[in-house]
Amino acid sequence: MPLQFNDASVTVAIVGCGGFIGSHLLDAVLCRTKWRVFGVDVDFYRIQHRLNDERCEFLNADLADADVVERIAKYPVVVNLAAICIPSRYMAEAPTVIRSNYDHPAALAEACARSGAWLIHFSTSEVYGRTPADSAELEEDASELVFGPVSSSRWSYATAKLLTERFIAGLDGLRWTVVRPFNFVGPYMDFMPGVDGEGIPRVLANFSTALVRGEPLKLVNGGKACRTFTSVFDAVDFVFALLSSGDKGLSQAFNVGNPQNEVSIAELADRMRRIYARLKGLPLESLPEPEVVDGEAFYGRGYDDSLRRLPSVKKAENLLGFRAQVPLDVVLEESLNWFIGHYSYAAD
Ligand code: NAD
Ligand code: UDP
Repeated sequence: MPLQFNDASVTVAIVGCGGFIGSHLLDAVLCRTKWRVFGVDVDFYRIQHRLNDERCEFLNADLADADVVERIAKYPVVVNLAAICIPSRYMAEAPTVIRSNYDHPAALAEACARSGAWLIHFSTSEVYGRTPADSAELEEDASELVFGPVSSSRWSYATAKLLTERFIAGLDGLRWTVVRPFNFVGPYMDFMPGVDGEGIPRVLANFSTALVRGEPLKLVNGGKACRTFTSVFDAVDFVFALLSSGDKGLSQAFNVGNPQNEVSIAELADRMRRIYARLKGLPLESLPEPEVVDGEAFYGRGYDDSLRRLPSVKKAENLLGFRAQVPLDVVLEESLNWFIGHYSYAAD
């Protein structure tokens, strides 16, 4: 029996509700349904506007806490978005990243198996590993998952995510769905280094920061790697398609991506420079040229990369009727506009 969005007796637990995806999902659940939300995070800065909402109960707590896990699993639907997912940390803090992406979600999965909750777990497209430049479309149930050597600690995150997927799929009685995001982008993504976060954020926030500060965009290893960037609003629509699908999404892993939006990182830099120049009314030539940097020099020892990550989206289309819609330039403009406004106080 599909969940009804107008059923005010439903409560969904959103773990990591203060994060980039979580904050958008929280807004969408409150706007599109009559449900209540049990929101857990250690950081609420993105969702200040929701903290007094009468349909929400928020818990400022760590998923590492066993009592918190038991409280979350009491709800019938649990969306788990909590994770350390900042690439610069995969090298410097591999054990912490692994605990965050395996130990904590595995404990939550066991609790959900005991309680009967439906666990919607956010994994990553990085489980496809060190994909080469000529790799074909990545299929959830057919593609090889190949990682680099242990010395390439970049893969600490992906290895832990994959182990969690295997654990979830093997747990007796668990009602589960795994989501593999392909580079979601949009407003509120990550942070501006030195202002509201430390380290190296993902590429959208890094390029936006450089543009706002008038610095060169850094192309890691020449910017040859390709990604398919996906609007976070499409990602939220995917979750709604899943939630309204009854049992069709159970015991499945889904790629969530937009194959129409595939670009190299060098091309992404080019598009973002052009959009930024237009938004600010500046001549393109006035912006600094991008600069090529070495991957290990930029991120730290043990950095490695996937050179192409093109999702097959047939499964989400066939089982859930979902297909991502938002074109790349639309989401880039929306994100840059937001970034410029949000960080105007911290541009220098
Ligand atoms: P995010 O970092 O913005 O959000 C994660 C949230 O989880 C943060 O608010 C953080 O404070 C919280 N959190 C982390 N550890 C916690 C803990 N132990 N206890 C309680 N809260 C904790 O990341 P996001 O982009 O919103 O990603 C959400 C999920 O999707 C993650 O699992 C991530 O690995 C996965 N994912 C996202 C993308 C993407 O494109 N955004 C790509 C691949 C995978
Ligand atoms: N990248 C880059 N410059 C930056 C940040 C990232 O060239 O300032 C590259 C990175 O090496 C990778 C791609 O952009 O090839 C996407 O990186 P991101 O950290 O956003 O996510 P990933 O898909 O690698 O998890």
